[in-house]
Amino acid sequence: MNEPTTLEPAAPEAPARFAFPPEATGLLRSCVHCGLCLGACPTYRENGNENDSPRGRLYLMKGLSDGRLQPTEKVTGHLDLCLDCRACETACPSGVHYGRILEGTRAALVAGREPSWLEGALRAFVFGQLFTRPEALRFAAGLTRFMQKSGLRRAVHAAGLVKLLPKRLRDLEAMQPEIKEEPFRCHAPAVLPAMGGRAKKRVAFFSGCVMDVMMGEIHRATVKVMQAHGVEVLAVHGQQCCGALAFHAGEAEVGRKLARKNIEIFRGLGVDAIVNNSAGCGAALKEYGEALHGDKEAEAFSKLVKDVSEVLADLAPVVELRAPDPSRTLKVCYDEPCHLLHAQKITAQPKSVIQRIPGIRFVPLPDAEFCCGAAGIYNIVQPEMSRAVLARKIDAIKGTGADVVLTGNPGCILQIRQGCKAAGLACEVLHPMELFARAIA
Ligand code: SF4
Ligand code: SF4
Repeated sequence: MNEPTTLEPAAPEAPARFAFPPEATGLLRSCVHCGLCLGACPTYRENGNENDSPRGRLYLMKGLSDGRLQPTEKVTGHLDLCLDCRACETACPSGVHYGRILEGTRAALVAGREPSWLEGALRAFVFGQLFTRPEALRFAAGLTRFMQKSGLRRAVHAAGLVKLLPKRLRDLEAMQPEIKEEPFRCHAPAVLPAMGGRAKKRVAFFSGCVMDVMMGEIHRATVKVMQAHGVEVLAVHGQQCCGALAFHAGEAEVGRKLARKNIEIFRGLGVDAIVNNSAGCGAALKEYGEALHGDKEAEAFSKLVKDVSEVLADLAPVVELRAPDPSRTLKVCYDEPCHLLHAQKITAQPKSVIQRIPGIRFVPLPDAEFCCGAAGIYNIVQPEMSRAVLARKIDAIKGTGADVVLTGNPGCILQIRQGCKAAGLACEVLHPMELFARAIA
C-alpha cells in the first residue's frame, strides 16, 4: 500500500482559527487506505498524483484532523482540486462518506481563514444575495435574456468586446445557455393536472434557482412527462435554492438556512413525493437530514425527495408516444450525472425511462460514470483540470456517434454542450425529460 508522502510539519504561519470538524474526524476512521477507490477518481486518472486521489486526500484531511498538518496552500490545493464527484464513495468497500468529510473540511477551512477582499465580496454577493434572494437571480436572468433577445449579446461578440474579458470569464460567457422561456415557477399554475383522468400520484415539484430562471424549458418538459404518466404536479411558490452550491463551497450555514426555508415551504402539502430533475439539487435535498444534524422534520422532508426518474420508473405513460424525430431513428447515449449515480445511487431508472421513448436507438457511453468536469463552479475555479476531464468525456461521446446526448443535471448539460460544440460534434445535448417530452403528442 502506497501512502502519500507530502505530509508537512505544521507551519507556524498557518491560520490559528482553523478547527477540524469533529464529525468529519469520526468519519475519517472508516478509511482503511486500501486504495480500491483510486481507479474511479477523475483527478488521479489525469495526473497520477496520490495526493489528488481519494486515499491521498483522506490522508491529508486526517493530517489536518490530528494536527500533523496545517492548511497551507499546498495542502488545500489538493483538496480544492477535488471535483466532489463522489465516485470514490461508489468504489469504496468500506462505505467511507467522502463527500461529507470533504464538505465538512471545506466549511472549516472557509471559516478559519481571512479571504481577500475580492473573494469576500464575491462570496457575499453569490451566497448572501444571488442564491438566497430569488428576485436577485430572476433579475440577473432577465437581464441576460434581454441581452440575448435584443441582439445586444451578438453585438458585443461582433465588436470583439468579449475578447477583452479574462479567459475564465470568456469561458463562462461561452457556456451561458440561451434563455428560451420565462422562469417556470412564477408562471406555472399552482396545480398541473394529470393527463388521462384520475391521478395515479400527486407530487410537489422542486424547481430550484438557476435551472428555474435559465432553463425553464426543462422544467416544463419534466412536468409534461409526469402529467403524461398520470401524475398531478403542484408548483410550489416561495421555494428557495437547494443550497448545494453553498454546501460544496464550504458555506454550510447559508446552505442550512436555505434548507430550513424549503422545509417550511413544502410542509404539510400531503404529497406522495417532492420531485426534482437536477442531480445536484436532488442529492442536496436528500441530505437535508444530515446537514441539519438529524433534525426529524428535515429527515422526513429528505425521505420524500425523489428524482423524476424514480417516480416515472414505476409508472406507464397514459398517453400515446411517438418518435421524437419521425424522419429517422435517433442514436441516443446517456451520461450519468455524478450526483445522481454516486450520491443518490440512481442509474437503472433514468435508462429504463429513456428506453421507453419510441424511435430511438440507445447506445452505451463508455465511462459514462466518470465526471464531465462541471462539478458546480469547478469549471470556473479549476479550468485546466475541468478541461482535461471534459476532453475524455467528449472523446467518448464522439466514439458513440450519438445524435443526442442525455444527462440529468444542468451544469453537466452546459459543460458537455460546450465541449461538443468546441469539438465540432453535431449532436444535441439535452435533459432526458426534454427528449421524452418531444415524444408526447
Ligand atoms: S476511501 Fe475506501 S476505497 Fe479508498 S482507500 Fe479508503 S477505504 Fe479504501
Ligand atoms: S470526489 Fe471525485 S475527484 Fe474527489 S477524490 Fe473522490 S473520486 Fe476523486
